[in-house]
Amino acid sequence: MLYYSTNHNAPEVSLSEAVIKGLAPDKGLYMPERNKPLPQEFFDHIEELSLQEIAYEVANCFFGEDIPAEDLKAIVYDTLQFDIPLVKVTDAIYALEVYHGPTAAFKDVGARFMARLLSYFVKKQGTDRDVHVLVATSGDTGSAVANGFLGVPGIKVCVLYPKGKVSLIQEKQFTTLGQNITALEVDGVFDDCQRLVKDAFMDEELNAKYFLTSANSINVARFLPQAFYYFYAYAQLKKERPGVRPVICVPSGNFGNICAGLFGYKMGLPVKRFIAANNANDIFFQYLQTGEYHPRASVQTLANAMDVGAPSNFARIVELFNHSHAAICEVVGGAAYQDGEINAALENCLNRFGYLLDPHGACGYMALQDHLEADEVGIFLETAHPAKFKDVVEAATDSEVEIPETLQRFMAGEKQSLPMTRKFADFKQFIQKHF
Ligand SMILES: *Cc1c(COP(=O)(O)O)cnc(C)c1O
Repeated sequence: MLYYSTNHNAPEVSLSEAVIKGLAPDKGLYMPERNKPLPQEFFDHIEELSLQEIAYEVANCFFGEDIPAEDLKAIVYDTLQFDIPLVKVTDAIYALEVYHGPTAAFKDVGARFMARLLSYFVKKQGTDRDVHVLVATSGDTGSAVANGFLGVPGIKVCVLYPKGKVSLIQEKQFTTLGQNITALEVDGVFDDCQRLVKDAFMDEELNAKYFLTSANSINVARFLPQAFYYFYAYAQLKKERPGVRPVICVPSGNFGNICAGLFGYKMGLPVKRFIAANNANDIFFQYLQTGEYHPRASVQTLANAMDVGAPSNFARIVELFNHSHAAICEVVGGAAYQDGEINAALENCLNRFGYLLDPHGACGYMALQDHLEADEVGIFLETAHPAKFKDVVEAATDSEVEIPETLQRFMAGEKQSLPMTRKFADFKQFIQKHF
């Protein structure tokens, strides 16, 4: 299948090129040229299938033309080595816990899939050069990418992060891994890290000698696999409530996660409608109400992974609905919450229903509480484990949050990182010495 750019000003490319390039040359985002619907028979028996089996069927629609069945199956099964359970919170509201992967956030699914797909394409090209993935992080992306690529043959990852600007648990998640992961502690801010990476991609001398690539979240191999768990959520709900078409609510920042769900909808997934839950960064919520899209500088909130002022996947959503605001509004609703409301929801949900939310999931939970109609059943995505936001959750709920074993293991590891200045010349020298 070919991939085209949302800016419509770049040639269509193969899957392998879209994955290796990430962004189209016209700065647009790659989109699959078609959405293959899944047959009714698949939905008739979906509740009998495992997460991996469902994911493979969905993956086959996207990637089946480009990757032989056995290889694709191996990639999918190896990616999903953890469950994504649907948990009942109230009579009408369920949480889809997408946080049981190695770094306790949903980004593990896309990062692990992309790592394996990239490794597959690199091997197929028969190059004996290692591929070097450069990733600048303000915290969460680095951990998902580093852990996704951990131990993947032929690929080395270099994470650049700003010294003293990420939380201890975040830092531990990408500095304690060893193997094919190197962490550089940059004496600067996140923007310096991002500039070093961009300069490296622009440097002709480096690119002639090394195979450098990025693992940006706009990459099709990171974003499309997120469709898998929407189907699995439906399968789990169907067991308990056959015939129900759920309302699905997604705490959103860059809108990659909900966009993957909307691809699922276009492939026939029986969802009644979607709700995008925002925090104070309510650019999309405003767009739904006014039809006008005004990106703006983001503000910091308790749900910090949703602090995005110019959601990068907005272009994909608009494209998916043929640039029609009305068509988007028919399927997608919105809601937006301030920090005070997030705190209240964390407390309220624990005290009334015994369910511990994280600040992102709290926005999803609230949107369903506020907008679900009497006969509707809702599912919100619990996008991260509450322990990742221990301080916020503990303060709001006045209770202690237990750290899951996966996160505890990182905390026990020893930080290993190399110091780096903000100067590109120093970073270039490092690459030439170590890559
Ligand atoms: C990344 C992230 C989000 C936002 O997801 P998008 O795909 O960017 O909309 C929400 N919650 C958590 C915990 C995240 O890490």
